[in-house]
Order: sequence, then structure tokens, then C-alpha cells
Amino acid sequence: MSKTYTYAAQSATEKLAPFTLERREPGANDVQIDILHCGVCHSDLHTARNEWANTLYPSVPGHEIVGRVSAVGSDVKNFKVGDLAGVGCMVDSCQHCPSCAEGEEQYCENGFTGTYNGPMFGGENTYGGYSTRIVVKENFVLHISHAEKDLAAVAPLLCAGITTYSPLSHWKTGPGKKVGIVGLGGLGHMGVKIAAAMGAHVVLFTTSESKREDGLRLGAKEVVISKDAEQMAAHTNSFDFILNTVAAKHDLDPFLSLLKRDGTLTLVGAPEHPHPSPTVFNLILKRRSLAGSLIGGIRETQEMLDFCAKHKIVSDIEPIDIQYINEAYERMLKSDVKYRFVIDMASLRKEEAA
Ligand code: NAP
Ligand code: ZN
Repeated sequence: MSKTYTYAAQSATEKLAPFTLERREPGANDVQIDILHCGVCHSDLHTARNEWANTLYPSVPGHEIVGRVSAVGSDVKNFKVGDLAGVGCMVDSCQHCPSCAEGEEQYCENGFTGTYNGPMFGGENTYGGYSTRIVVKENFVLHISHAEKDLAAVAPLLCAGITTYSPLSHWKTGPGKKVGIVGLGGLGHMGVKIAAAMGAHVVLFTTSESKREDGLRLGAKEVVISKDAEQMAAHTNSFDFILNTVAAKHDLDPFLSLLKRDGTLTLVGAPEHPHPSPTVFNLILKRRSLAGSLIGGIRETQEMLDFCAKHKIVSDIEPIDIQYINEAYERMLKSDVKYRFVIDMASLRKEEAA
């Protein structure tokens, strides 16, 4: 075991603060990564504050991890010391159920193991990327093909990137498709960039008038202020697909009624409190679908990273020191981040050394 310096929440009501834990030494199939940057996902906040009522404490969030390989086990084939590497939301799964066999480990029938907060169906805790180092099975480590100078801005691809890429790809976004992205936060801004790169006609829905210019710059062809009923009504029955990334409960009917026949509204936002149930007539009269989607499998995460490298897509980030994390959470709650906080882990190493 080796001591690792982290930031952790000790309960739902305490601020994140320094915490030292033990990581395992790399086994035969493990890769050890010295973490350089870690993105701050709204799921980190939901978890640290036990908003999904399943948090194991101490909780060390962080599942948008990039860094440099510092050790590999004897059976590791695809990584060597010095390589850049990424880790997303999963560090293990059963590897033999039908979903795992199809490379959809996020839907592992026996429950995948989260990068933090442990196995889905209970078990020992795991500790995420707000730390100096992590040890992960080779099968759950990703290759980074972006230039090294972009590394901090690549980190959010590991969750925000794959969580939007996977449904956009599954529901066949592309040329000729009208696609809505709801919410311009960490996930939403990646959704706009990726859907535009896939060739779709992208419409951004935001509650923040001040984000209009950014929406257009990031790749949306149109921006709709979702609180304005008139602007919404102008798009009735016109969308093939809408991806909803909003982190708080809200009424889904105004978005369902914008779908054309056979269109789909997919939820990726996972709010603490449930959305009110939509009107059934909004679904049955046009055979519309309401769906959900969870991150993406490892193979697809690598595909997304390579797609983003090819299309020169990274996240728009605000780099922060880890000592700023509690303020960053408060700002994220106010939708005041453009568009992802990313922790520079040099700040944690400096604190550890002091
Ligand atoms: P974020 O950066 O905080 O962005 C959320 C955006 O939602 C905000 O920027 C805001 O956009 C909009 N919003 C917030 N409160 C709202 C409200 N009351 N009404 C309407 N719009 C509101 O969060 P994120 O990191 O992108 O994560 C978004 C959600 O996805 C979280 O619930 C997170 O846990 C979840 N998530 C799910 C998965 C998955 O696999 N399904 C993976 C990662 C994250 P505007 O200012 O543009 O309105
Ligand atoms: Zn996330």
C-alpha cells in the first residue's frame, strides 16, 4: 500500500478538505497514474453531498482524470511508464455479462465499479481523481492522442465528453438531423461541440441569456431561451433528437412537444429530485420516446477521445487549484462556470510537500 494525498468530503454537510488514504501497489494488470488534471463534474457535487442517497464516506470525487503513467504491472501490454493516460467514471466491471461482452460496461448486469463511491451494488469504497495518483486495471485506462499542451482541457472528455457522445452516436446524430442540447454547462457545452462535429443542425436551449454568444461560438446554429414560451413554440414538432443535461428538476413537456413524430428526448442530467411526470399525450400522439443514457463503454470512450482529437475538440475550461474546490461547487450550483472547472493537481502536490 502507498500513501496518497487527496481532498475528501467526510459527510454530506462538510466541505472537502485534505485527507490521506492508502492506494494498492500496482498488481500484474494495473497501471499507476500520477494525476496531472481532474475535471469537476456536477456528479462529484451530487455525490459529495449525498444527493443520490448512496454516498460512502470519506468521499474522494473526480472521474475526469488525466495524467502520466508512473508504474505498470508485469502483464500490462498497452501502457508504459511515461505515457499520457486517462481514467473516466469506471475502474472495473464483471467483464462477462452480456453488456460487458458487448463493450457496454456501464450497463454491467453485475454493476460496474465507479472510479469513486465503489461498486454500484455495494462493496468497498473507491477513491477518485481529487488525488495525486490512482491505480487502475489496464482495461479501464484510456489512451490520450491529443497534444500534451491540451491535456487539462482533455480531462472533461472522460465524463462530459463520453456522456454526450454516446447518446448522440446511439441516436444517430449527423447531417440532416435537427438536434437540441438542453443546458450549457460541462456536459452541455461538450454536447454542442460534438453534435456540431457530427454534422447535425444544433440548437442550444439555455436558461441563461448571457450564454447566447457562447452557444453560437461553440457550434450551435440557433440558441433558444427555454424560459421564453414564444421562442420555444417556434420549434414545435421539429426535432429529431434532444439531449437534456440539466442538473435540476424541471418540466419536460415543453421539450417533448418540440420533437417531431418518432423523435427522442434523452435525459443524462441526474437531479437530486425527480422531474414531474410528463403528459402522456405528449408521447402517444406522435410516438415520441423519452429515454436515458449513462456515460459510455470503454471502447466507445476511446472512440470518442480519438474523434475529439481528430476534430480538435477539447473542453472550455477554468483551471483551478484544489484549494478552490468548495467555492467552485458553489459557483457550479449557480451555473457560473465556463464551462468546466479543471483542477491542476500541482496545487495538491505543493500542499502535500509543504
Ligand atoms: P453543470 O455544469 O452544472 O451544468 C448543468 C446546466 O444545467 C447548467 O449550466 C444550466 O445551464 C442548467 N441548469 C442548472 N440548473 C437549472 C435549472 N434549475 N433549470 C434549468 N436549467 C438548469 O453540470 P454537468 O456537470 O454538466 O452535469 C449535468 C448533470 O448530468 C448532473 O446532474 C450530473 O450528475 C449528470 N451527469 C450524468 C451522467 C450520465 O451518465 N447520465 C454523467 C455525468 C453527469 P444553462 O445555464 O444553460 O441553463
Ligand atoms: Zn461526471
